[in-house]
Amino acid sequence: MKNIVIFGAPGSGKGTQSDKMIAKYGFEHISTGDVLRNEIKNGTELGKTAKEYIDNGQLIPDELMIDILASVYDKFGKEHKGVIFDGFPRTIPQAEALKTMLDERGHKVAAMIELDVPEEELMKRLVLRGQQSGRTDDNEETIKKRLGVYHSQTTPLIEWYKKENIHNHIDGLGELDRIFADVCNVIDNI
Ligand code: AMP
Repeated sequence: MKNIVIFGAPGSGKGTQSDKMIAKYGFEHISTGDVLRNEIKNGTELGKTAKEYIDNGQLIPDELMIDILASVYDKFGKEHKGVIFDGFPRTIPQAEALKTMLDERGHKVAAMIELDVPEEELMKRLVLRGQQSGRTDDNEETIKKRLGVYHSQTTPLIEWYKKENIHNHIDGLGELDRIFADVCNVIDNI
């Protein structure tokens, strides 16, 4: 079982690389952003709460996210090939909660893969994605807030995972296939 945290700023290619990993390795996938957008679409209480944070470029409170995570993870049963965590964790308390949740099940994160992309490129990609997908938080003002939140609340996780000895840095700028080859190199060597 190879549980993977795919890590990086909004627009760094986590979703794209996750799709390729799923196709090649048969992994399961948890995108907390997708889970929340689904809740919004279904008009649930959680969705209503989440929408305000998302539209404002802020993170949903840790307690809510941590509760959701275990229930989604357990849907995959005990014998999966690995789960890709995409968009989670985004804070140190979330990383600690993920570790505890997996420990309780005798599982662990096998690798954290950081996709490193320069800020200018992130902005370009997200504005384009907003035009194509209609995601309401992919507008310039909200993107700036999200990148600010990424720098202040999420980047400390790089050091956190370095201490866990499972951090892997990948240059996320360039050819998709080269980036995916680098990702596979990490996974194949776990
Ligand atoms: P994403 O699709 O991963 O870019 O997430 C979109 C938005 O959902 C984020 O800007 C946050 O508002 C919210 N979100 C997704 N995952 C998390 C998380 N792990 N913790 C807090 N908020 C989250």
